[in-house]
Amino acid sequence: MNRRALGVIAAVILGGLTVRAWAGQPNIIWIFTDDHAVQALGAYGGRFKNENLTPNLDRLAAEGMIFDKAYVANSICGPSRATLLTGKHSHLNGKIDNRDKPNFNHDQQQFQKILQKNGYQTALVGKIHLNGNMQGFDYWEVLPGQGIYWDPQFVTEAGKITYPGRHSTDVIKERALHWLDTGRVNGKPFMLMVHFKAPHRSWEPTTRWKEKFKNRTWPEPHTLLDDYKGRGTAAKNQEMTILNHMKPDRDVKSQQPERQAELSKIDPKDPVALTRLKYQWYMRDYLACVAGVDESIGELLNYLKKSGLDKDTVVMYSSDQGFYLGEHGWYDKRFMYEESFRTPLIARWPGVIRAGTRNNDLVQNIDFAETFLDIAGAPVPADMQGESLVPLLTGKTPSDWRTSLYYHYYEYPAIHAVRQHEGVADKRFKLIRFYGKDVPEGEEWEFYDLKKDPSEMQSQYSNQEYQAQIASMKTELLRLRGKYLVP
Ligand code: CA
Repeated sequence: MNRRALGVIAAVILGGLTVRAWAGQPNIIWIFTDDHAVQALGAYGGRFKNENLTPNLDRLAAEGMIFDKAYVANSICGPSRATLLTGKHSHLNGKIDNRDKPNFNHDQQQFQKILQKNGYQTALVGKIHLNGNMQGFDYWEVLPGQGIYWDPQFVTEAGKITYPGRHSTDVIKERALHWLDTGRVNGKPFMLMVHFKAPHRSWEPTTRWKEKFKNRTWPEPHTLLDDYKGRGTAAKNQEMTILNHMKPDRDVKSQQPERQAELSKIDPKDPVALTRLKYQWYMRDYLACVAGVDESIGELLNYLKKSGLDKDTVVMYSSDQGFYLGEHGWYDKRFMYEESFRTPLIARWPGVIRAGTRNNDLVQNIDFAETFLDIAGAPVPADMQGESLVPLLTGKTPSDWRTSLYYHYYEYPAIHAVRQHEGVADKRFKLIRFYGKDVPEGEEWEFYDLKKDPSEMQSQYSNQEYQAQIASMKTELLRLRGKYLVP
């Protein structure tokens, strides 16, 4: 009988009524990226599926479980990370938007503090986007704010460290490997969070990936030339179009000689031609950043295998939210529409997760903190707002698993001019309430049937045929506001 089998029996006996499908306290490696859309992750399919952008993440998915319906609670960087650490919606953890005030209150309850108290060694390397000293990590080395791609500077307990001439993706990978090599305490389970900055704007890949991608042409989304006719004020008046809001120099680097040559072949006053060309430039840089991250993840996975750590380590992968890769003519995130509401989620756990499985349950980033605690066998505080994903990972979704999700975006007026909104979604329908400043009469609703309209091109809010569903979703929105204590 192997060690794990013995451990399972021990866990069953020692755990009394709680039957755990695993032994002891496995290590956890949480790999997180910034703005990685599911459209750009091979295992999710989609229009880039034949481009082999993410072979290592695809392998991770093939060896574990991939979640098709993973979503965020507030589609933006800082708030997503605050939710990750606290297991709470933005209005309760206090980090509602990317602005400095209110800043994240580090003194509050966070899952890593509880892991520490339960015997785990904890470490965080990379982007956290929450100003101030981290708490509950035995080691932390984080980018200040957004961080930068090249010559990145990191903040640590002991002060600042700069890596001249280096790329943030490479440095974050190396620092994570360094910690695995030299930072761990033998015999102690660990939680390592590896948080890449890429592929965040302004999409600056390493030179080697830039070179590899420079002559490639990428398939376009069918909504690239969207005119927003079927939607309301918010979609019409945002400031996140590839055509009008990407900066020619910083974002699409049109000053580069080969891009100037491409520009000379089109009529720059033709909005369609210019959108299509800028989309190609955008994808070249964005996808090269994604490929660079995937390459680094491959090195982390190889290290785990070589060191034998892979057998007793749960590896999870996600992004702080999704992103528009030209869908609706956009880049950026924020909206509750699918491309930015959804986020990738993959988990590999040898002996517990059956390889090659897909999960179709509604999961959200409020669930991550409780999942880590559950894996560790640590107590889950009653005021965390998610659900542990462990039953799903073991292939046993509870019969009363959630059937709807609550979403709330707050940052307006602000960059990209996305109006404040909240909403509710189930597996088929989505109801969104835009509200506040610059929304006509202070409130505007949209309603989508994703089965008939997966790209959310036509709101059905005024369609008589949907009034029963709309009324039912409004009731559900109120119920969720109550459940999650929304003020
Ligand atoms: Ca982000």
